Amino acid sequence: MHMLDPRSIIALGGFMALLMTLVLFFMRRTYPTPIGGLREWTWAPLLSFLSAMSFMLRDRIPDLLSILAGNLLLFWASYLYYVGSQRFFGEKPRMRRWAVLAVLMTLVLLWFVVVRPNYAVRLAVVCGALLSVFVAHCRLYLRQPERGFAAWFMLGTLVLQASALLVRMVLVWQGMAGRSILEPTLVQSLYVAIYCLTILALAIGAILMVTDALRAKFEQLVAYDPLTGSLSRAAWLAACQRELDRARRHNRPLSVLLIDLDYFKAVNDTHGHRMGDQVLIDFVQRAQGQLRAHDSVGRFGGEEFLVLLPETGSRAATFVAERIRSEVARPHSGLPAYTVSVGVASIDENPELDTVDSLVERADQSMYRAKALGRNRTGWMGV
Ligand code: GH3
Ligand code: MG
Ligand code: MG
Repeated sequence: MHMLDPRSIIALGGFMALLMTLVLFFMRRTYPTPIGGLREWTWAPLLSFLSAMSFMLRDRIPDLLSILAGNLLLFWASYLYYVGSQRFFGEKPRMRRWAVLAVLMTLVLLWFVVVRPNYAVRLAVVCGALLSVFVAHCRLYLRQPERGFAAWFMLGTLVLQASALLVRMVLVWQGMAGRSILEPTLVQSLYVAIYCLTILALAIGAILMVTDALRAKFEQLVAYDPLTGSLSRAAWLAACQRELDRARRHNRPLSVLLIDLDYFKAVNDTHGHRMGDQVLIDFVQRAQGQLRAHDSVGRFGGEEFLVLLPETGSRAATFVAERIRSEVARPHSGLPAYTVSVGVASIDENPELDTVDSLVERADQSMYRAKALGRNRTGWMGV
């Protein structure tokens, strides 16, 4: 059977790694937000490419250079993939222990190139060092509480490569090391081919991880108000529609509050916009402190907020509104005093006909009553 010799496979793998470097580099340049790990994930395939070049030049450059540069670059490429994952998950890489391992590997390789040339020992040592990187990398993914497709893809690749390294070490142990990395045997070709595929798969995995993170960021931006962390208007309205449908189906009560900060323009004018922002953040925190887990606060716009109160009739909703109003009216150190006016609307006032819009509209009208009556109060229909 005619098959590719290791040198051709390494060349192919090297150029695929270079291609992945370019893809990751331009992703990094064009992505709107910095994503942890992307820098290391860009460097890793570049080092793989350089490592492949060093191996390919075996017999054309001094052996010592090809062996040392090839293996060290391979080690650092594998390690950088790991660091990229660590940074992606917000873990701090511990470089020192891996640097020590790299130095030890270098010394052993030097000895077994210069003093007692021995390919089998060198191969075993390199496989062992790489295996420890891949096992640590696998364990990082296993530690993650949730794994999407991208993380499973990474984990699968890492487990396969770790297994391949283990098998290769066992083969070395059994005297099947061969004579050189470029020897065109089945074992050598397979070993090299799996490694080249791993480098490619890890780069694809990195791209998938980054795309996943970006999608999550965009979803977060659409669903939440970046300043206060409350739901965005669209997300709140969608949640309200869901709850309204459910309440109708099961004939359950449902209320909404519309809360507007009083004289908020004056807070901005007197204390500055930044302090105004702090007041908005403080308001959401205090309101959430008065709510149950399944109630939700959304930012309607500017200094107006909506609160969704499932399973709550108009009387209970008025109590909640008053609780929030009086909590907010208590002065807080470090912040200017401020108050809110609250409007309440419930579907029990209008069970069959209410829509999300009509509920919000009634809450708005009752909030304006509270404003007209002097602010810092709760208004409701009929007052
Ligand atoms: P009222 O009691 O009638 O509600 O008076 P008000 O001053 O609260 O109402 P008005 O609508 O006149 O002013 C609202 C102000 O809210 C104007 C706007 O500059 C400010 N505002 C809106 N969004 C933000 C924000 O994100 N940060 C800050 N600091 N201010 C905001
Ligand atoms: Mg206002
Ligand atoms: Mg307003």
